[in-house]
Amino acid sequence: MAAWLSMEQADVADTISKVRRSWNMSRIRNRDTEPERIVRSLLRKLGYSSSGANPKGLPVVPDIVLARPKIIIQVHGCYWHRHSLKDRRCPITYTPKSGRKGREFWLQKFRENVLRDQRTARKLRGLGWHVITVWECQLRRPDAVAARLARVLRARGDHRRTEQHRGSVLPEPAKRGKV
Ligand SMILES: [Zn+2]
Repeated sequence: MAAWLSMEQADVADTISKVRRSWNMSRIRNRDTEPERIVRSLLRKLGYSSSGANPKGLPVVPDIVLARPKIIIQVHGCYWHRHSLKDRRCPITYTPKSGRKGREFWLQKFRENVLRDQRTARKLRGLGWHVITVWECQLRRPDAVAARLARVLRARGDHRRTEQHRGSVLPEPAKRGKV
């Protein structure tokens, strides 16, 4: 979902950590990122698994699609997708001070990323999808993310696919489920 990164990779390398580089590289290779794997595993524990082929007619390739409850989960890296920068709630996001391209170049790139995410979510919602954004830093508390997912899944009806979950009750969301 961030194809432009490949062209700018060299410039970014000195401003981002190894962890974030590996996130970007996994995006470029079109493989699941570690945060995506965590979310998929939380979903499996709740009795859900993502659909095989993506539904036709989507404006983007989403990170995770649950076709029956019609839910799309976008797992965003905090840095590139600019999580909570204004109120500094995110422990990961920061703005590079300079770099060869200059600060304004990156601010513009970041703005484009945020606008693209907003546009994408709007289009998906317009097509009737429920869009959930899970941020990288929220996965430091996977139980809270699982509780939030359980709450949304419950509200969309029971479409669990995993046999062992059939007949069992979808877990109640935790009281402090909002993350
Ligand atoms: Zn964050």
